Amino acid sequence: MAIRNLRYENDEILSKRSREIDVIDDKIKELAQDMIDTMHKWDGVGLAGPQVGVLKRIIVIDLYEEGTQFVLINPVIVSQKGTQEVDEGCLSFPNKFGKVERPKEVVVEALDLDGCKVTLKAQDLLAQALCHEIDHLNGVVFVERVKPGTLETVTPNNEGKK
Ligand code: ZN
Repeated sequence: MAIRNLRYENDEILSKRSREIDVIDDKIKELAQDMIDTMHKWDGVGLAGPQVGVLKRIIVIDLYEEGTQFVLINPVIVSQKGTQEVDEGCLSFPNKFGKVERPKEVVVEALDLDGCKVTLKAQDLLAQALCHEIDHLNGVVFVERVKPGTLETVTPNNEGKK
């Protein structure tokens, strides 16, 4: 288990496009596990390669309910339906939140860590998380999608801090 350093806003790596993964080797598997550990450390629901400084098309997601942890390689949104307005944040933008419009439902195709093709039909929060993380792979961060006037910076409250 290893926690990787997060990349934060203004780091130019966050605006770069990630490359496809051709071979899922031990290094990719280690990266995936480190990304899960890093996401968990910061209580995130998702993390993408560029956020730990790796420009490869890999994302991890965990909604902290049974069956909602995913590692997806080369994920692609193949269809989407409807819209939802959601509050959104990002581990690379600590304390920033805003309202974003996302699809209500998406279908995503990807590979799992064994190289098997997976198709995910997702709605609501999972659809939002998939769109957010796949945006990262294309060099797009959520603050670019925030509805004008809704971006807030929240000052951390030290009371009750772990
Ligand atoms: Zn993010």
